[in-house]
Amino acid sequence: MQQAIRKSNVLRLVKPIKPVRDQVMVDSKKTTIGSEEYYKQVEHYAQKIRRTSDVDEIIGILDVVLAETRGLHLADEVHTAQAQVQHAEQKIELLKDELAQLRELVHADQMTGAFNRRGLNEIFMREAARADRSDTPLCVALLDIDNFKQINDTYGHQFGDSVLMHLVAIAKEILRPSDIVARFGGEEFVVLLPDICIDEAIFVMNRLRENIAKKCLLQPDNKPFSFTFSAGIAVRKYDELQNSVIQRADEAMYRAKHSGKDKVLSALA
Ligand code: GH3
Ligand code: MG
Ligand code: MG
Repeated sequence: MQQAIRKSNVLRLVKPIKPVRDQVMVDSKKTTIGSEEYYKQVEHYAQKIRRTSDVDEIIGILDVVLAETRGLHLADEVHTAQAQVQHAEQKIELLKDELAQLRELVHADQMTGAFNRRGLNEIFMREAARADRSDTPLCVALLDIDNFKQINDTYGHQFGDSVLMHLVAIAKEILRPSDIVARFGGEEFVVLLPDICIDEAIFVMNRLRENIAKKCLLQPDNKPFSFTFSAGIAVRKYDELQNSVIQRADEAMYRAKHSGKDKVLSALA
């Protein structure tokens, strides 16, 4: 995304600081909001937006357009087109807000509010790159609710849904804001725990497990209900891909399931 923003920064509506290759040069003295030159530049950005489906890139381009529309606003000594500039600014801001909301929707699991697979993929790439760059650990936990089929069968699918929502709500309460909770599928979740070692990650996931057991939900007949989960944790190795580290966490989770459930185990070295 940064790259996309940097790329779009090359194209400018107003006077650039230094000439850059492939740059659209505009003389800010001649360019006013209603001028042909302005609309030519806006069309140029519009074409860039049409060519991409990456919301982050579009927001980056809009940021540049907005900054440069404001630049025109300031450069317009005669102030003839102030109202038009303000209108353009408002429209761009509105579009940016809508796109930001769309980006949230695209990356979120609608029922639980956790990240979805797509969100996880993007955040994993970002966190993995950061961990490699700064030589800090990135722990990956895979958790699976115990006996979830039985919960659905006994209390109904809708109650099963509320169990999933409850788990995410408690996880958000217990974990640090920098930790990531993503729905991996059905009743399985991936938790990314940056900057902590495996022992701390086990401690954190056990704290989550204890809180889930403690903070009951109400069954349809208002009786308290609690559930458990099993989890496996692996520390990502340098340059390791998401699939690989999740597979190692999955192997640990499998052992947790097969040794009585309701526990957190770490992957074998
Ligand atoms: P284990 O303890 O070994 O994990 O057993 P389990 O019953 O939790 O696992 P199993 O894989 O047999 O069952 C998972 C169930 O999750 C089956 C599926 O119908 C249910 N499920 C998947 N997605 C949803 C959902 O969005 N809502 C609800 N209510 N149920 C779901
Ligand atoms: Mg499962
Ligand atoms: Mg399960």
